[in-house]
Amino acid sequence: MPHPNDPSLRSFIPVDPSSDFPIQNLPYGVFSAADSSKPRVGVAIGEFVLDLAVLEDEGLLDLSPAYEVFAQPSLNAFMALGPAVWSRTRAAISALLREDNPRLRDDKPLRGRALLPRQDVTLHLPFRVAGYTDFYSSKEHATNVGVMFRGKDNALQPNWLHMPIGYNGRASTVVVSGTNVRRPRGQLKPPSADVPSFGPCKRLDFELEMGVVIGQPSRLGEMLTEAQAEAMIFGFVLLNDWSARDIQQWEYVPLGPFQAKAFATSISPWVVTREALEPFRIAGPVQDPVPLSYLQQKNAQNYDLALDVGLRAAGSNNAQSICRTNFKYMYWSSVQQLMHHASSGCAMSVGDLLGSGTISGPEKHQRGSLLEISWNGTEPIELDGGVKRSFLEDGDSLVMRGWCQGNGYRVGFGDVEGTIVAAD
Ligand code: MN
Repeated sequence: MPHPNDPSLRSFIPVDPSSDFPIQNLPYGVFSAADSSKPRVGVAIGEFVLDLAVLEDEGLLDLSPAYEVFAQPSLNAFMALGPAVWSRTRAAISALLREDNPRLRDDKPLRGRALLPRQDVTLHLPFRVAGYTDFYSSKEHATNVGVMFRGKDNALQPNWLHMPIGYNGRASTVVVSGTNVRRPRGQLKPPSADVPSFGPCKRLDFELEMGVVIGQPSRLGEMLTEAQAEAMIFGFVLLNDWSARDIQQWEYVPLGPFQAKAFATSISPWVVTREALEPFRIAGPVQDPVPLSYLQQKNAQNYDLALDVGLRAAGSNNAQSICRTNFKYMYWSSVQQLMHHASSGCAMSVGDLLGSGTISGPEKHQRGSLLEISWNGTEPIELDGGVKRSFLEDGDSLVMRGWCQGNGYRVGFGDVEGTIVAAD
């Protein structure tokens, strides 16, 4: 049987070459249909969602001895079954969708129940977020921010090249694409003011990131090898780490971001599996100095994954591209972030979400936040119709896309979109 990643595979469902969801992808999500039935797990294929609860009920997915893992409003139960089951299930789904397999293709009643037009379903948060940690692992991003606030000579803090820097964020405010984002309120103290005031954020920003979805736990007190860390990664989502720059600037000393990041984090509705991204693995930048031994990795742990950010200004109908970059630039890999996270003895849980940190590249058009794009508001960008932006205004929508380009197909994530609504 061919591997589910085989580029020659075709589904009986027609899939446009520009679709994010060919048979080589098969990302997992949680959806509900118009009949208001309960949210359940599905897989995106072309313009359809494949209802895995229906397939499981028909006995077409060998998940024994597990029971009803897909008739649930989150992926957590399935993820908890581990990498061997993830792989076996993906192979079974791939086989059922192949153009040369009559089992589902020729069973019209079953097809009618199991394949729903994607436009007719509502997508939900795909997994129960156990914990959310956000990193700061793009050297270009950290350097840009450092130059802005500390000058060229002290851009990178002395610890940055020695470990993936991060902070513990809020799991409670991770939302699925399409959820409106209310402008946060907080303490503001611009350098010109003597005392702080409380009010709506004036410097609302996005951060282009990828999120790692942890599918297996680690034990309290135990460190992880590279192979163990890799095996715990179920998949990836696109992630927007919305950020209130003015709140952040006043609050972040000495413990780092707090309320500036706590109000919302948006993720894509589809979790693309680590296995589906396998053909797009690529070595990351050379790490100098060589990391301490607990952080060393032997395998290529980055991904050649194109990223695009569009900004649809309030009142406009089209999103204009304001950033095009690639996940491959990340200095610290997701595997290193996970090894570092567990290195103290910190236990990881099924459903943990690790944000990569803002993904910027070496070029100006590759900057993954408005803070960098507008250089802290000093160089506003001009959009169609003469509209200028330094930061996000009420009614603005941000749309992120990400995909790995194969030969004649792409493995993508769908959009992550969010619209800013007024603070009150
Ligand atoms: Mn971030």
